[in-house]
Amino acid sequence: MSEESGLKPSTPPLAEPPNPAKTPRHWTRMIDSLMPERLCQYCHGLSQNGSLCQSCLQVLTDRQPRCYQCALPLLSQSHDDHRSCGECLSKPPAFERSVTAGSYQPPINHWLNNFKLRRNLRDGHLLYQLLLAQIERLYRGQALPKLLIPVPLHCSRLFLRSFNQSAWLARQLQKSLRIDTLNGVSRSSSGRAQKRLNRRQRQHNLNGVFHIKPLALSILRGQHVALIDDVVTTSATARVISQQLIDAGAARVDIWCLARTDKTGFQH
Ligand SMILES: [Zn+2]
Ligand SMILES: [Zn+2]
Repeated sequence: MSEESGLKPSTPPLAEPPNPAKTPRHWTRMIDSLMPERLCQYCHGLSQNGSLCQSCLQVLTDRQPRCYQCALPLLSQSHDDHRSCGECLSKPPAFERSVTAGSYQPPINHWLNNFKLRRNLRDGHLLYQLLLAQIERLYRGQALPKLLIPVPLHCSRLFLRSFNQSAWLARQLQKSLRIDTLNGVSRSSSGRAQKRLNRRQRQHNLNGVFHIKPLALSILRGQHVALIDDVVTTSATARVISQQLIDAGAARVDIWCLARTDKTGFQH
């Protein structure tokens, strides 16, 4: 993949990867130099699927019970896939359901930081492959959204970083799932940095920040859409944008993200 050339190797795996079918090391190196796209980026065994081989995909697939709406991990085991956490029950968000590649923990958080801050597309592909596997698993037999809407970066941050990871992710999903992308949300102000704010402060901080583009209104009407974000922490951004999408006429909003923080520790 030409877009990956010149990138540094991804963070070394922190969990033990599966045995790559006992491929001898010199063979692995030789194959890697001849056709690096055929090797799993996690265990360096042969891969037919892309960045991750089937074994690693199995090992790394998140199967934790999660809130159907916000994807926060749930403590109790249950076969009911439609359970909500207490927070979503008491203050239901405008979005219907959330799907995440996994928790914001190793190795996902390392890959995410490499992808987001260092534009390491190889790690971006690892995360994307995990998210795609989750979407295929969790939507089996159900209708997929009809539009993908990436969370926008403020233009000053876009300029500084010159990379909107959510837009990149939406393009990959568009290719795999054949769902159109709509850049239907703009961001007029970056607001205060969100990092140290609790969720109520974050939501207040985001008031008036996001806008549905006028051209998107007629396309959105009555549509089931997926909002694409890199990491969901307090869900403040997801709540604000999805409410605006519903107010603008969208029939349903789902959240697709690369990582979900496990316990926010924020006041709700
Ligand atoms: Zn592997
Ligand atoms: Zn929830």
